[in-house]
Amino acid sequence: MANLRDLYQEVIMDHNRNPRNMGAIDHASHTGEGFNPLCGDQIDLYLYVNDDSVIEKICFEGKGCAISTASASIMTEVLAGRTVDEAKEYFQVFCESVTGKHKDGNEALDLGKLEVLSGVKAFPARVKCATLAWHTLLSSLDGSEDTVKTE
Ligand code: ZN
Repeated sequence: MANLRDLYQEVIMDHNRNPRNMGAIDHASHTGEGFNPLCGDQIDLYLYVNDDSVIEKICFEGKGCAISTASASIMTEVLAGRTVDEAKEYFQVFCESVTGKHKDGNEALDLGKLEVLSGVKAFPARVKCATLAWHTLLSSLDGSEDTVKTE
């Protein structure tokens, strides 16, 4: 298992060094702000959702630890081109996976790259780093203007 863990680490460090979809969207249809005071992670999320409820563009800006940055980066990669309903399903399955509630072999959808972050379930303090971008996503899709706080 040690090798597998090394690989996970590499994916996370890669996304932390070179975050995908970094930046703002000029004509965002949805925006969200998230803050994790425990770690100091901050995120601004920008989405452009078209008339067919497809997330055409999803970008983020922010400062945070490797886990929060990698999680946001991987999230934008996975969700671009998906529908809002699919994004909400991913939210559910992802949060279950990082809190350890997810049962293997019982998945409604394949987490794919997101699976690399499920390792944080062994580190409860880092779970909020991994889920910050996702809670911010859900709040922005629900049209909330409040800053998402993990505390
Ligand atoms: Zn963090």
